[in-house]
Amino acid sequence: MIAAPQPLAGWRLRQVVADTHQLSKVGGFLYVFGWAVIGWLGNVLDFAPVIALAVGGGFLVLAALRWAMRPPDAGDEEQARRWLRRYAFVLPLASVLWAGVQAWVLLDARFGEDTRMVSLIATIGYATVFANVYSTVRHLAAVGVGVLFLPMLVVLWSLPDVRALAVAMSFYALYLAGALVRSHAEYRRRLRLDEALREQRDLYEHLSRTDSLTGLANRRHFTACLEHAATRALRGGAGFTLMILDIDHFKRVNDRLGHAAGDACLQALADRLHRAFPPPSCLLARLGGEEFGVLLDGVQVDGRALAEALRHDLAQHPLDCGNGVQLSVTVSIGIGTFEPARHGDADGLYRAVDLALYSAKGEGRNRVHALAGEGA
Ligand code: GH3
Ligand code: MG
Ligand code: MG
Repeated sequence: MIAAPQPLAGWRLRQVVADTHQLSKVGGFLYVFGWAVIGWLGNVLDFAPVIALAVGGGFLVLAALRWAMRPPDAGDEEQARRWLRRYAFVLPLASVLWAGVQAWVLLDARFGEDTRMVSLIATIGYATVFANVYSTVRHLAAVGVGVLFLPMLVVLWSLPDVRALAVAMSFYALYLAGALVRSHAEYRRRLRLDEALREQRDLYEHLSRTDSLTGLANRRHFTACLEHAATRALRGGAGFTLMILDIDHFKRVNDRLGHAAGDACLQALADRLHRAFPPPSCLLARLGGEEFGVLLDGVQVDGRALAEALRHDLAQHPLDCGNGVQLSVTVSIGIGTFEPARHGDADGLYRAVDLALYSAKGEGRNRVHALAGEGA
């Protein structure tokens, strides 16, 4: 049976990981830029060159580290979770360093008023970015905002002549907390919507490939796979074998037991086929009515032997059609291996195998007919 769409376990986590990195990978360089401006405005190289260079180097290393920490492409949930934990540790390090810079600028009298103003604006900017952009992981955003804002607030409240500024900054911190909660909720809502759309798309894709009665592939999907296999073989790839199978005198089953029992019989046969031709090397389809197709990958497979084994199995074990109905059915089978020079394309092979099935019916049914030259 065609595999049902994969559950979306882990999809949400991987999306959070991808979004978090996408939104934040260049953010580290903003701190490098901010420190360059502060250093230039405050002439830091003149009075503290070692610290100036060390801080600049620190921001640069953290920015490069953040850039280089690519999230795992695929992989299991645990891998993604581990990456997120490591990233959530690295990401706020630049904020911690900036908070130190901010406290230094506020407390050191060698910095002028303009430098102080610019550093405060930068801190507000970085914290706002954390609250709005890193909404993918709420605690990460909260840590970033907290680390950036709290030391600044403590310093501002400790300086008696900037009370108005301290009050304004405290209010802004409250606003940021609200913005953080809102933007995170918004992100979650978008994620849920994306997830629902993906689920719908996967389900639709699954249904468009599946026969609703048996759960096997439908004719459309089977034909597409057949054409794909033929194209691959024509390019020198692996060969394949096609089998078409039709229940003998199935109309009588319907006439005798009713359509519902006929349906149950088709389902029971699909189960039996599934056991006889297990995936992934075999693709099974209901081509229509009581006709089934099997696509066997690779020429090593002895398709004819498998077909004979199925015929014997059906002769020995009746189908369980529910409500205590056991039904003995026979099948006629046409089978052939793709030969590019002989069949040309998938359609050519299909026609030849269909004719083999037709001749199996003509010769009395309950038999396997291989294409000429293949042991017919
Ligand atoms: P043959 O041995 O020549 O194949 O004879 P047959 O009776 O199997 O073939 P025929 O083509 O004459 O009849 C096929 C029957 O399959 C007709 C229809 O009642 C039945 N059938 C087709 N689709 C379904 C289905 O979805 N459910 C049920 N219960 N019966 C179906
Ligand atoms: Mg039939
Ligand atoms: Mg038929």
